[in-house]
Amino acid sequence: MAEPSLIVGVSLKAVSLIRRYWKEAVVVLFIISMIPVFILVGAINILFPQIEKEDFTTYKELSKETQVSWQAHLAYDVVRLENYLKENNPKESIFDFLVIDFIEYEIIEKEKEVIKTVDGKEVTETIIEKEYVIVRELKANGYFEIQELLKSLDYDITEDNMSVQKVTLFLEELGKKEEYDIQVTTLTTEEISDHFEDSKKEWFFALIEILPIIDPTSEFDPDKFIIPDLSSNPSVPSIWPTQGRVTSEFGEIRQTHIHKGIDIANTEGTPIYSTADGQVIAVGSSGNFGKRIMIYHGTDKEGRTYVTIYAHLSQFKVGVGDKVSQGDLIGLMGNTGYSTGPHLHYEVMINGVSVNPRYFLP
Ligand SMILES: [Zn+2]
Repeated sequence: MAEPSLIVGVSLKAVSLIRRYWKEAVVVLFIISMIPVFILVGAINILFPQIEKEDFTTYKELSKETQVSWQAHLAYDVVRLENYLKENNPKESIFDFLVIDFIEYEIIEKEKEVIKTVDGKEVTETIIEKEYVIVRELKANGYFEIQELLKSLDYDITEDNMSVQKVTLFLEELGKKEEYDIQVTTLTTEEISDHFEDSKKEWFFALIEILPIIDPTSEFDPDKFIIPDLSSNPSVPSIWPTQGRVTSEFGEIRQTHIHKGIDIANTEGTPIYSTADGQVIAVGSSGNFGKRIMIYHGTDKEGRTYVTIYAHLSQFKVGVGDKVSQGDLIGLMGNTGYSTGPHLHYEVMINGVSVNPRYFLP
């Protein structure tokens, strides 16, 4: 048993340590608790504006060829390429999820004499014995390794033939032959993330969670769009996001792009309001947008997902995950990002397609 005086001494020491450092401990605990939030914010900030409808569609099609979900597939490319998605060829990266266990044998046939007893007599009989000698044994994973393997098997590796479906079929047929032992397996989501460092692993799984929310693949044609009844639907962005003078309209042709929102100018610090009920999905800096907020307003009965963007802000008044009501203060007007004076760039997206916000404005 320990000496009572020792225990008292130790606990007194612990108490004095806690007294001295409790503020620091609170700060450390707070920072640790914020890590997932930072990851989520970072993920959405980097992710959403850069991914286009076509990307979602491509990944969805490709996921049909493997057991890997489209979210995992897309998240994998985003994390692996640090979001340089445009440089990527998804049709190649899908091979990163395939593992081919490959064994090739040389079959050596040997004649062998065996002595049998037939009806009490000894008879010498010649039989053929097969010996399987391993010529090659390898595990191929990833586009280039698999391409090399296929090339050695005289498979036509032109781009058209390098689809998971065709490759798998070819290997399956080949595996039926005696001299091959071939197994094609698909990595699980856990295995895909295995070689990521921890922070990227968290990012990867956060993306898998977020992607379905911002998936803009459902069809939307702005020309055939009938504006819903705004008066009774606070989930549709139907009020002005701020006060001021409209300095640029939707659809204006600029040097490098077509203007996808409307600009409303006023003094720095003018309040900015959410134009519909919803949930904040992104708060942070994003390239030309500067400080910007994105709010998700849900999906209506017709399958239209509404998202609004508020850019060039000077201050944020909400955080990621916050639920907001139509008219709630979310930030202040500013001049951040690519901007020549304090103004709000306001954008309304339906299923990832920017539409004229004036459709909905009173
Ligand atoms: Zn603008």
